[in-house]
Amino acid sequence: MAGLRTLAELRAAGYDGHLTILGAEGVPPYDRPPLSKELLSRTEPAWLSAELGADVHDLADDVLLDSPARRLLVTDDGVRLALSDGRELEADGAVLACGSHAVRPAGWEAALTLHTAADAEQLRSHLAPGVRLVIIGAGWIGGEVAGVAAAAGCEVTVLEAGPAPLVRQLGAELGARTVRWYAEAGVALHLDARVVDVATDGVRVAGGRSFPAEVVLCAVGARPATDWLTGSIPMLPTGHVPVDGAGASDVPGVWAVGDCAARENAKFGPVPGGHWSAALIDPAPLARELMGLDSPVAEPAPYVYSAQLGHNLAVFGRVSPGELVTRGDPAEGPWTTLTIDDGVLTGAVIADRPRDVTAVRKLLGGAELPRLDPRTAGDESVNLRSAVVG
Ligand SMILES: Cc1cc2nc3c(=O)[nH]c(=O)nc-3n(C[C@H](O)[C@H](O)[C@H](O)COP(=O)(O)OP(=O)(O)OC[C@H]3O[C@@H](n4cnc5c(N)ncnc54)[C@H](O)[C@@H]3O)c2cc1C
Repeated sequence: MAGLRTLAELRAAGYDGHLTILGAEGVPPYDRPPLSKELLSRTEPAWLSAELGADVHDLADDVLLDSPARRLLVTDDGVRLALSDGRELEADGAVLACGSHAVRPAGWEAALTLHTAADAEQLRSHLAPGVRLVIIGAGWIGGEVAGVAAAAGCEVTVLEAGPAPLVRQLGAELGARTVRWYAEAGVALHLDARVVDVATDGVRVAGGRSFPAEVVLCAVGARPATDWLTGSIPMLPTGHVPVDGAGASDVPGVWAVGDCAARENAKFGPVPGGHWSAALIDPAPLARELMGLDSPVAEPAPYVYSAQLGHNLAVFGRVSPGELVTRGDPAEGPWTTLTIDDGVLTGAVIADRPRDVTAVRKLLGGAELPRLDPRTAGDESVNLRSAVVG
């Protein structure tokens, strides 16, 4: 996504030089979110050439989709890349858009993961009504797959090491609100269940309990696919390449965008990649910077969406710290929780309230973060805009 969008934005900004795109999967770019949300209903990848109307073959001079880069060398006049097929490429600059990969702890080889179209095909081929599926991890992808598999008649168990689903993403208090969604979807959720052993016929958790299964899915997170860059450019302990607001790394001639980057955001500080909207949006300012053009001052807020067990969740900005102000009743139905830090709106988690999605996107997308009156903001009958003060 980020690589294709960078090509498209460079051409849109008037770049007529030579462009090469490298890939590691041997197929043209496709959209990953449907891999989990439409795991069983969509058997062909959602090709980005159709979704975005942009084709790598129209945009790049050289398209090498099965020649991953293995090494990056920064030279006095640009970069040199060593490819897996033994070739070497020289260029004036490189944009890193190598994304991330699913984490699978050592010893868990019997578990499947879900990151690529090939992974989705493999997982889909194992699922059928009555099949016992154990999912390790109640994060974004664990929850999404649990929902679609249970709806299709699989017997789904989710094992989560933390005290609540989505604990890393939302914190325990907000994550716990999704527990009832699992129950309503007919999924058996076990919290504080730390998996210690994974086999082809099931898993065992600390304390000794076993969960038999025909299929085990490891959904414990993703990590930037940047191991091949070790020693070539500075990286964070998380594996992200730190970049400024335009996508420039600390090394001249090297930029990074999408999942593999941690991008400086004027309002929110460093934002680690890992979400679709950044891969879609951030290539535009990057291309404009490369072409020496100005970008609009206001940046959109970091945004994540997910379809969890029949519910829509949207997360904007920073979820904590701060005062939590909730609109709606999380025990009953749709809700929005705003994070207000010292009077300033810094983030929001929105469950099934599309109007608040629009309002929050606008409020957090301005040049400055707005001040909100918490009492008015907590009244779900008023539009959020009327809670802005000053
Ligand atoms: C199942 C699933 C569901 C998701 N759902 C959501 C969602 O609901 N909401 C959301 O916000 N985000 C979601 N995401 C995350 C979202 O898809 C990513 O943030 C987005 O794809 C990132 O785009 P990217 O271009 O940075 O990386 P990628 O899409 O990972 O693309 C990187 C490409 O680089 C290639 N590559 C890697 N290493 C090399 C190399 N050394 N040389 C050459 N090529 C290389 C890879 O093969 C890959 O094709 C989901 C992800 C998955 C897997």
